[in-house]
Amino acid sequence: MNTFRIAGNIVSIESKSIFEGIVHVENGVIQHVEKTSNGKAEYLPYILPGFIDSHVHIESSMLIPSEFARLAVVHGTVATVSDPHEIANVCGTNGVAYMLQNAATVNFKFYFGAPSCVPATTFETAGASINAAEVKDLLAKPAIKYLSEMMNFPGVIHDDREVLSKIAFERERVGGLLIQAVTIRTHIDDFIVFSGL
Ligand SMILES: [Zn+2]
Repeated sequence: MNTFRIAGNIVSIESKSIFEGIVHVENGVIQHVEKTSNGKAEYLPYILPGFIDSHVHIESSMLIPSEFARLAVVHGTVATVSDPHEIANVCGTNGVAYMLQNAATVNFKFYFGAPSCVPATTFETAGASINAAEVKDLLAKPAIKYLSEMMNFPGVIHDDREVLSKIAFERERVGGLLIQAVTIRTHIDDFIVFSGL
């Protein structure tokens, strides 16, 4: 059994307070957080939950997910909510499949969505497109958590059949929600994060 302890000023999101304490870790999992004082100790470092980047397109960093993760964790980010629509604009659903496959090779938490707007506009010349049927297939994958940012608001307003179908598939899947939301469970609390509209 691999156990260790870290002492520091615990930033508690749950109680909205900072106190001196010890984090007990066993086999890579936090077992409990021990409060040793109600106050802070100036000489100790601060310990807080990992950051969740709620809107980042991984491939815009010009890195594959596993490399993005390697660099992001150094800065405290442990998860992202990400629409892989940039790679999809060029590679279509094959690009999305690659992102999922590569992301699965690391422990970083990638919450990918099904790109809703590929191409972003009819003036795009990147080459790929993802239609409503393909969005439906993507939404059926366990690694795809939501319908990604619906940038095509003119399509929504003017009742574009393809656009409304994509939204309808997502509404059917989640039970009627219009705002995209993902619940992420951490060791501290449940966070609701949003990506796009
Ligand atoms: Zn975006």
